[in-house]
Amino acid sequence: MTFKSNEFKHVDYLWDDKVANQLDAVERLRYRSNILGTDQRITNTGGGNTSSKIKMIDPLSGEEVDVLWVKGSGGDLRTSTRANFASLYMDKFLSLEHIYNKAEIKGVKTEIEDSMVDMYRHTTFGLNPAASSIDTPLHGLIPFRHVDHMHPVSAIAIAASKDQEDLTQEIFGDEVGWVPWQRPGFDLGLVMQEKIKQNPKLKGLIMGQHGLINWADDDKACYELTLTLIEKAAHYIEGFDRGDKTFGGQKYHSPDESTRRQILIQLLPKLRGMVSQQNRSIGTVHMTESVLQFVNSVEAPRLAELGTSCPDHFLRTKIKPLYVDWNPQGESFDTLIEKLEKGLAAYRVDYMSYYEACKHPNSPAMRDPNPTVILIPGVGLIAWGKTKSESRVTAEFYSLAIEVMRSSEAISKYQGLPRQEAFDIEYWLLEEAKLKRMPPEKEFARNVVVVIGAGSGIGKATAHRVAKEGAHVVCADVSEESARATAQELIDIHGVGIGIAGTGLSGCGPAIGLGVDIACRESVQALFEEIIFAYGGIDNVIVTAGIFVSPDKNGRIPDDKWSLTYAINVIGAFIVADEARKIWQAQKLSGSLVLTTSVNAAVAKQGSLAYDTSKAAANHLVRELAIELSPLVRVNGLAPATVVEGSSMFPRDRVVSSLIKYNVSFEESESTEALREKLATFYAQRTLTKSPVTLADQAEVAYLLSSNKFSKTTGQIIGVDGGLQEAFLR
Ligand SMILES: [Zn+2]
Repeated sequence: MTFKSNEFKHVDYLWDDKVANQLDAVERLRYRSNILGTDQRITNTGGGNTSSKIKMIDPLSGEEVDVLWVKGSGGDLRTSTRANFASLYMDKFLSLEHIYNKAEIKGVKTEIEDSMVDMYRHTTFGLNPAASSIDTPLHGLIPFRHVDHMHPVSAIAIAASKDQEDLTQEIFGDEVGWVPWQRPGFDLGLVMQEKIKQNPKLKGLIMGQHGLINWADDDKACYELTLTLIEKAAHYIEGFDRGDKTFGGQKYHSPDESTRRQILIQLLPKLRGMVSQQNRSIGTVHMTESVLQFVNSVEAPRLAELGTSCPDHFLRTKIKPLYVDWNPQGESFDTLIEKLEKGLAAYRVDYMSYYEACKHPNSPAMRDPNPTVILIPGVGLIAWGKTKSESRVTAEFYSLAIEVMRSSEAISKYQGLPRQEAFDIEYWLLEEAKLKRMPPEKEFARNVVVVIGAGSGIGKATAHRVAKEGAHVVCADVSEESARATAQELIDIHGVGIGIAGTGLSGCGPAIGLGVDIACRESVQALFEEIIFAYGGIDNVIVTAGIFVSPDKNGRIPDDKWSLTYAINVIGAFIVADEARKIWQAQKLSGSLVLTTSVNAAVAKQGSLAYDTSKAAANHLVRELAIELSPLVRVNGLAPATVVEGSSMFPRDRVVSSLIKYNVSFEESESTEALREKLATFYAQRTLTKSPVTLADQAEVAYLLSSNKFSKTTGQIIGVDGGLQEAFLR
């Protein structure tokens, strides 16, 4: 059975000769990889690899040589660029076989096998810094020009079935062979090479418990073969679809979406606290129809216990998820919490015994024993990871594992990877070395930092500052548009990460922009609900939002503007703290709150009564809140002197009224920016340091006060004013 390009139903055929034929051989490989990685049914995020053996001129000899270009360690097929591919001299690579064979003890999981990974660097062509992956020998030792190794759901379903070898034969006949599960490495490459020697007509192999590998001497033919094999497998599986009987039928049903959301808003901060006692985690909620069908099913408890199969999947999902047998139709929310607490305690004990039973003398120390995937009937799947990107990947992988189980249970009986094999991947010394090579986590890694007022001025500068420290940043502002704009700037700088999962806002990246009116409690509540849904909780809140109402020409502001000033600068800051407190208390994790007050809080002067007294109240609010929120949350104040640069609080009329107040001469014809500079220079001359105060100066202190660098400081107001003697607190 072969397919024409328009006959594929289970994969997207995306090859376009018009694009491919304009590319050089390496770029064709990049192109093929990108279009394969685009379709989740072909491979998961970060999973699989591709290669081409390309004739190139050796810069040393000037001779034509064969170069193996193969997707390197890390990276992702969908988003790969040329830089993600390693390049190796084929002859040098093949010579490694002699080194391998000389070893007295060789084979899967031997020392020589692991040491081969370092040898690949000696075979590098063209000073390419991309590191070769452990799958390199699978590509190098297969004697065909192009090789695709994918993790398609339909192929893993066959590979994770009890009678996988027979199924392979039944579905593919003689064109695809089968190799049993074996940890990837040099030995697996030799096993495959041997298979091809025995049957030179083979076009591919189902890799037990793992995936698919296939090859061709033409790159487009290789691409089409990959699609054809996946299509065949998916077509076969479709014929056995069990419909309503899938996973043994439904035991529970899901409440409507808004009820589910309400449960999650209540649940997520508590759950985040429970799984974050060792390391803070960021959550992703995934509740597609397919996930709900699984968590609500009769067979979910049994299947969840079997764990995932593809090594790529379970490196993120851990050996198994935590399934909580809660009845959404009859049991209360409190019962859910109780069951989660018990379930988590049991999971940790179980994980420790798995570690103890499977560890080797040289195994790395046990890692965080908390689950990364939690399944709740009626609600869905909640994944946890050290970043949003990681938790999205984890959610994606388990939802793919659900599809694997669905298919495998339709055609046979699903089986997970044996425990010891799973352990030997999870605690593989090569994986550990990879983790050790990663740069140390940044100050705000694993944290959700909410910046209110992030649309402009100090808030925007602060959002940028904390994002640099690895924070997940919620940019909130009374102007939703400017909040979104700041969030987009952060994503443009720091990237959205990988992983395709997450329902609604939970599928977000490392920054989101939301509108909020802090003078309105409902609006603040709605803001925090969105944040909980997006990330699972909060860690640090920084309020820079404030209002300054310019007095009229006589230096007065009307009574209603007094109310507005207090509603935002004092009561608004309190409402934010009060609503955030509920989340901090539910999480039981330490946090910090920074309120932006003003030097005007301490310096009495003419013409800004409402603003100055509101900021004096805010200073005392910092102290009162530091007491109210202790010991969980530190509360400090940032007291800026006027930052004229780029501040939305300095529209032209305020600049003008200040210039008049201070007798600084100016012309009405001057630009606003020029007037701002005049005012900034005037202010600087009044300070001890004689230098204008910038947004970056304010952002730095907002960041520091929020961070653990100030972990022993609470109830304090720090002036960032260039040094104003009259603003010294006493
Ligand atoms: Zn693989």
